[in-house]
Amino acid sequence: MRYVQLGRTDLKISELGFGCIPIIRLGHEAAVTTLRHAFEKGITFYDTANAYRDSEDKIGDAFSGMREKIVLATKTLKRTAAGAAEHLEASLRRLKTDYIDLYQLHQIAQEDDWNAVTAPNGALETLVRAKKEGKIRWIGVSSHNLAMAIRLVKTDLFSTIQFPFNFIEDAAKDELHAAAFERGMGILAMKPFAGGMINNAAVAFKFLRQHPGVIPIPGFDSIDAVNEVVSFYGHPNRVTEKDLRLMEAYRTELGRQFCRRCEYCNPCPSGVMITQAMGYQVIAGRMSSAVAVEFSRAAMESVKLCTLCGTCEERCPYELPIQDMLKRHYDLYEKHRSELR
Ligand code: SF4
Ligand code: SF4
Repeated sequence: MRYVQLGRTDLKISELGFGCIPIIRLGHEAAVTTLRHAFEKGITFYDTANAYRDSEDKIGDAFSGMREKIVLATKTLKRTAAGAAEHLEASLRRLKTDYIDLYQLHQIAQEDDWNAVTAPNGALETLVRAKKEGKIRWIGVSSHNLAMAIRLVKTDLFSTIQFPFNFIEDAAKDELHAAAFERGMGILAMKPFAGGMINNAAVAFKFLRQHPGVIPIPGFDSIDAVNEVVSFYGHPNRVTEKDLRLMEAYRTELGRQFCRRCEYCNPCPSGVMITQAMGYQVIAGRMSSAVAVEFSRAAMESVKLCTLCGTCEERCPYELPIQDMLKRHYDLYEKHRSELR
């Protein structure tokens, strides 16, 4: 494992990070064991979020007493200064620390998100103040929307950008990567397995390792999963013709079934939370079905508001059959709900 500087921060981190959504579905002890094992294997960068249920608590317990040896990143979905301040204090408490290395505005995708966080009394004010107070060391941002991500990079307000990046969702590799790289910003590659759609870890990481300055943050839910990915970093990267053909085959197969969470289909005139509902199957795969039902309840219940107007499908750049897909996701949600009764 190599250790690299994270973008324009002074943080030195492992070239492979740990995305802390999947530890939600592990029991407390199993999560702590998996996190500590990752550290023993050389992973020093852990990315979580206020929204990831008990993820922060588990990280706090796993690394209690060794704070200076790890680099912690978390994020807030709050858009107001007061809301972000509340989330920051909660994260500090749960992570059992008095500072966060990288604090990110979570999922700035739409114009409304950006206007809200930068307005007077917006969340950015809290982050800037907290940095001055030493509660956070660096400020980053995450997004699923390519145009917005490029714009966020160009504001020069952030030290890192977190964006989905894998060989299916590879839109970041051109303009976003170039803009961030040129500014010395760190690029945190979330969803290296495309939310579970890529089941060939070796090829997934061959793709990612081709891109300098990109730190993949795969989610791990077992010691075996950590060992597998860490093993790729023990030798130089080599992408073969066969790997490229395999990547292309995945793209062809998933092209018309896979939501990239870019949010171009929003807003729905009837109030359906399209992007969140489109992710139900992936969420259910990453958490237990019981947790997924609770986590996604508002989004899945909103699917009932759909009037089949078709506006979202006209907007989707990937021409996804959104109405059919929402129905399939809703049926799965209902099945999970009925199993809980
Ligand atoms: S449905 Fe299409 S437009 Fe909407 S988030 Fe998914 S990929 Fe983007
Ligand atoms: S088809 Fe349904 S989800 Fe899509 S925009 Fe119309 S009402 Fe919203």
